Amino acid sequence: MRQLRDLLQEAQQNGVAIGHFNVSDLVLLKAVFAGARELNVPALVGLSEGEREFVGTRQIATLVRSLREEFDFPIFLNADHTHSLAKGIEAAKAGFDSIVFDLSALPMEENIRQTKQAVEALKAINPSMLVEGEIGDIGSGSEIHDSSPDLSKGLSTPEEAKQFVEATGVDILAPAVGNMHGMLRSMVKGQTKKHLEIERIGGIKQAARVFLTLHGGSGTDDADLRKAIGAGINIIHINTELRVAWRRGLEQRLAEQPDEVVPYKILPFAVNSVKEVVGSRLKLFNGRQMAQGA
Ligand SMILES: [Zn+2]
Repeated sequence: MRQLRDLLQEAQQNGVAIGHFNVSDLVLLKAVFAGARELNVPALVGLSEGEREFVGTRQIATLVRSLREEFDFPIFLNADHTHSLAKGIEAAKAGFDSIVFDLSALPMEENIRQTKQAVEALKAINPSMLVEGEIGDIGSGSEIHDSSPDLSKGLSTPEEAKQFVEATGVDILAPAVGNMHGMLRSMVKGQTKKHLEIERIGGIKQAARVFLTLHGGSGTDDADLRKAIGAGINIIHINTELRVAWRRGLEQRLAEQPDEVVPYKILPFAVNSVKEVVGSRLKLFNGRQMAQGA
């Protein structure tokens, strides 16, 4: 079975990106796996500290590994937004394939010092685990926001990207390039889209020479995402769009069947609702033509 690093290298060579989808229950995991299998493309499943707390760090590792082994399918597991080494070690020991070690809220020097320590400590537990570092400001939660935060001062530069990568030894870098966690109400309604700074991505890629992740991909303009992949983005995170689809699928079914209480008769509708979003994002990230009229 190929490792995550091999798949990232292949994606880079082929000019495509790997989709990273956050899950916090079995509905979301089933939807991501089904969407990826249908298109036969790899997928990365991610859980933040809060999502891991709900599902269980060792429990999700076992679930994802069982899917990978039973179906001989490239589905991998990422410890998204981890803010302490203790939580990182917990994920490494549970068998996560990669980790987002996020100290971007700290001053750069402190971020570098602690991220370097984390890279060493985590690779001592699992040498093939990929460590991603974060610089810049891309806002907080993957939720629906009332107003857009001013992230213009937190944009990453090629110089600091190069300095951070060389000083820490991270495998993957998450820069701030116009992306933002969560979605505005107008984005959920489809009235507005996020836009990315494509030239900045290209400059950072050239300077840092590592795999790049785009966080906060939900609600981003499709053409911008395509260009971002062309400029050097290798992993794209989608969370809020899945959460919106999860809730809509669930609400619709509950409204249609007010007396239904059997979970396995209700939840497949939420799975399908999420799977549709996963499929359309994976098609875009993998350069597949969208079906006519889709
Ligand atoms: Zn993120």
